[in-house]
Amino acid sequence: MILTDTHTHLYSEKFDEDRKAVINRALQEHVTRFFIPAIDSSYTQSMYDLEREYPENIFLMMGLHPTSVKENYEEELQKVEGEFQKRDFYAVGEIGIDLFWDKSLLKQQQIAFKQQIQLAKRKRLPIVIHCRDAFDEVFEVLESEKDENLFGIFHCFTGNYEQAKKALSYNMKLGIGGVVTFKNGGIDKFLKEIPLEHIVLETDAPYLAPSPYRGKRNESAYIKLIAQKVAQIYGVDLEEVASITTQNSKNIFGV
Ligand SMILES: [Zn+2]
Repeated sequence: MILTDTHTHLYSEKFDEDRKAVINRALQEHVTRFFIPAIDSSYTQSMYDLEREYPENIFLMMGLHPTSVKENYEEELQKVEGEFQKRDFYAVGEIGIDLFWDKSLLKQQQIAFKQQIQLAKRKRLPIVIHCRDAFDEVFEVLESEKDENLFGIFHCFTGNYEQAKKALSYNMKLGIGGVVTFKNGGIDKFLKEIPLEHIVLETDAPYLAPSPYRGKRNESAYIKLIAQKVAQIYGVDLEEVASITTQNSKNIFGV
């Protein structure tokens, strides 16, 4: 069995004390593929260090996270472009719109999102979308960029059935994480209506730990708890969820 964590911030300072142990626990639980979203240039070096330590297991993305879109965002976007000129990545991410923390930079977030989608399309790469309190705003940008080169993952999907279908219509897969295990999470109610072929698994570690670890530090080994819950929702066994969602991740990332 191979489980794929399509979204894990293993370079986070939250893992500085015990990163090796965290990764070993995941490997023991058959989580052997880690897709690593970027946040901003302050983490680039630690992402490369992680890749050097685990070249077989670590797959890097590059991009500017919406909550890191500040006054200097143009400079940050140039750094993203600069990294792409030096080497290859598996996706442009994580990118999108976040109106939970700060609404004042919506315009800049929209510009950064759009510009990075265009970068992904030029590179024929998937995008990994971060969307918080901003479904309408994200869909508006996707609508304006919709074409045969637009595809990717709606990371940490927490919307309703209508929003799930809309995300799929833009060639996005749904990234399902710890929220699916929460009592009031909501997505467990309709997820079964979405074919497993449109689902990938993610932890978003160190954030959003699944039950029974809700509120604690999350880690990639917990993807198994998410996979078990998904298996229960779809009425299939864990191995089938692992195999279909890993295949989905291969189809998206090309590896
Ligand atoms: Zn993330």
